[in-house]
Amino acid sequence: TEALASRDPELYKSITDELGRQRHEIELIASENIVSAAVMEAQGSVMTNKYAEGYPGRRYYGGCQYVDVAENLAIDRAKELFGCEFANVQPNSGSQANQGVFNALLQPGDTILGMSLDAGGHLTHGAKPNQSGKWFNAIQYGVRKQDSLLDYDQVQALADEHKPKMIIAGGSAIPRQIDFAKMREIADSVGAFLMVDMAHFAGLVAAGEHPSPFPYADVATTTTHKTLRGPRGGMILTNNEEIAKKVNSAIFPGIQGGPLMHVIAAKAVAFGEALRPEFKTYQKQVRANAAALADQLMKGGLDIVTGGTDTHVMLVDLRPKGVKGNATEKALGRAHITCNKNGIPFDPEKPMVTSGIRLGTPAGTTRGFGEAEFRQIADWIVEVVDGLAANGEDGNAEVEAEVKAKVEALCQQFPLYPNL
Ligand code: PLP
Repeated sequence: TEALASRDPELYKSITDELGRQRHEIELIASENIVSAAVMEAQGSVMTNKYAEGYPGRRYYGGCQYVDVAENLAIDRAKELFGCEFANVQPNSGSQANQGVFNALLQPGDTILGMSLDAGGHLTHGAKPNQSGKWFNAIQYGVRKQDSLLDYDQVQALADEHKPKMIIAGGSAIPRQIDFAKMREIADSVGAFLMVDMAHFAGLVAAGEHPSPFPYADVATTTTHKTLRGPRGGMILTNNEEIAKKVNSAIFPGIQGGPLMHVIAAKAVAFGEALRPEFKTYQKQVRANAAALADQLMKGGLDIVTGGTDTHVMLVDLRPKGVKGNATEKALGRAHITCNKNGIPFDPEKPMVTSGIRLGTPAGTTRGFGEAEFRQIADWIVEVVDGLAANGEDGNAEVEAEVKAKVEALCQQFPLYPNL
């Protein structure tokens, strides 16, 4: 038989185990989401068999007439979703989308100015261990000590001093809206390109729940699998024809070969879903849920960096309870609440320890949780954290088991992929 279960039981088990984990745990990792069965169907389709180097209508392989339809659908829907003129839907990941833009607009050794990892930026924005930090003269800005908000004065001062060729806005742990007009003004003052990496909040932008990077950004990049709720992948958007041409050559043949046509097909499906009115309702709820979660955690005695969130993501400062991020991630994991430890701005702890956790609401909201459920989840988090505070790293096993049972009951009320 061709069925995976009998052909490769070992691998099949890893998939069913992962499905079980997703069904029975509350997913609070801010960068994750739960795609529709239709997105998975497209991604698991025959399009994985096809080589299609090049772009629709201009391929280096025959037989591309149907994958062209899929890629054109993805491009047209992306342009409609974000109100822009050009879209490249081929980047295999968010990192490759950023790499593609750098390859299009920069030379090795050029100066770039991005947000530092420890302030909430992404590795690909110039962090030392990343190619962006090795091949470019990467200068990094951060947030203000007094309120952990993006330090625009520092961005301006560093731009004046280092004259970057590109300024990057966006990041992985930024709970507040970025002032794109202000970043444009700074970029213009030194003649720099402005790239906005909207990976985290792209879904909010698509739904009108967050300001758009356009018309301020020269180019915007995103992942497609976070708030946007598509398959794992990346995308590059611009209104500038010259930049669009450079970006296309920079992705192929610049840094990629054959595009993942099955993933591009799934991107088209997800963008189609995001154009529907339900997606607006969903993103509104993502934000309302995040506000409720943050509020209830503060009521439970935890601090939230910047005092709350405008988006889907928050950084919890655990220091009021005297516990660490790594121990908290593990303890919540034992209670079937999944999140990641995360440094907070000016964190006194090492990156593998941290004083914080990062939480987000996109996956839980897709599952159907509303504000009441998220307030309940906040109370469970506080119970587990209090158990850690009272008992050290091992936590309170009894409390964790009780919370796990309640998590399980809640998950059963909101079944995941009932038809799988
Ligand atoms: N940019 C930002 C802001 C991100 O948060 C991420 C992923 O965490 C990426 C880029 C990279 O995306 P990927 O993991 O698909 O390479």
